[in-house]
Amino acid sequence: MAEKNLPFSKEQLESIIENHPTPFHIYDEKAMIENARNFNKAFSWNEGFKEYYAIKAAPNPYLMKILRAEGFGIDCSSVAELELAKRIGMSGNEIMLTSNDTPAYEFQLAKDLGAIINLDDISHIHFVDKHVGLPDTICMRYNPGSLKEGNVIIGHPEEAKYGFTREQIIEGYKILKEKGVKHFGIHTMVASNELEPAYFVETAELLFNLIVEVYEKTGVKIEFANMGGGIGIPYKPGEKPVNMESVSAGVKKHYDNILMKAGLAPLKIFFESGRAITGPYGYLVTKVRHIKKTYKTYAGLDACMTDLMRPALYGAYHHITVMGKENDEANVKYDVTGSLCENNDKFAIDRMLPEIDPDDIVVIHDTGAHGHSMGFNYNGKLKSAELLLRENGDVVEIRRAETLDDYFATLDFEGVKDF
Ligand SMILES: *Cc1c(COP(=O)(O)O)cnc(C)c1O
Repeated sequence: MAEKNLPFSKEQLESIIENHPTPFHIYDEKAMIENARNFNKAFSWNEGFKEYYAIKAAPNPYLMKILRAEGFGIDCSSVAELELAKRIGMSGNEIMLTSNDTPAYEFQLAKDLGAIINLDDISHIHFVDKHVGLPDTICMRYNPGSLKEGNVIIGHPEEAKYGFTREQIIEGYKILKEKGVKHFGIHTMVASNELEPAYFVETAELLFNLIVEVYEKTGVKIEFANMGGGIGIPYKPGEKPVNMESVSAGVKKHYDNILMKAGLAPLKIFFESGRAITGPYGYLVTKVRHIKKTYKTYAGLDACMTDLMRPALYGAYHHITVMGKENDEANVKYDVTGSLCENNDKFAIDRMLPEIDPDDIVVIHDTGAHGHSMGFNYNGKLKSAELLLRENGDVVEIRRAETLDDYFATLDFEGVKDF
């Protein structure tokens, strides 16, 4: 079984905890930058290649600033995410809006920022035209339906709510061309947390063939293809990360065989990956409050599912390290829980771990994407802080923890006195 490594020691963590009470998420800047560079390097053959970081995975301006310095753009799917981009000074083709069921004010903000708008439905062509006016560049999201198999999180494409059918998207390019749109892109995203490199190569093949068909049927020459997100990460020990070099080589082969041959190169390749960019580089650091023995043995933490929903939501595996006990035998079966009044508030069920004691520091791995950001306030639980572990070992608080005042900020305790 391959090891799941940590970028800090128990002693280092103890000294961090002196200044920053648990629970918190901490992100490893060095590893994140290295990974970003490798991602870009893998596609260096493609002029104009760009990864738009799916900001919903970890909407923190510090993380986005680090990634932007590596040439990444931002993929937004809500007004708040566009606003985040705006507040850190991003604009133009650094921003992609891939949203669905989109309100007019969101299209408006995207257009004001000069963002690339990626339409989710054929009816949105008329909607954007009417409410905000069509920009010069438009992308459309393709849903291949039964042509492509999906996977567990996103489901089968034909049952997914996203995107245009094949007929619709061809019709879409015709309409947009008539309406004077000048630059065109295509997008698809049919998997989530997929670990098989061939899957992404097949997606590219599918898109490239469609690009040829679009050109033949409409005369539209598509300038960029956004391959979506969905690149998986090895949550479980022994799983392998997606080898982007091999994805890239496979994509290049189809690029040469399909697009070059049809005279439709150059085409810029984009991704809007979230998980694979920050996921492995975040850790939820938490302390054990109580050990409870009833019909099962429970380790109750000071973190709960508001800090990390994935196990409760998808039954997702997140590796757990009990600090200082890495070499002890994992010979006790635990349910590792939070304090929410919800029985599915469990980080792990029937997990074999070394014997745990109250106050042990427990680290939950791979929380750098869809971790803190999925949090919520049910049961009055407050969202945790986020910390950044810098290359030189310094720790920066990049988001403070919520307080009770934050939690009550939308309520009117004055008004209720006279009510
Ligand atoms: C969530 C999402 C992503 C990012 O997905 P990952 O699994 O984090 O890579 C990208 N694009 C769209 C449209 C999404 O909804």
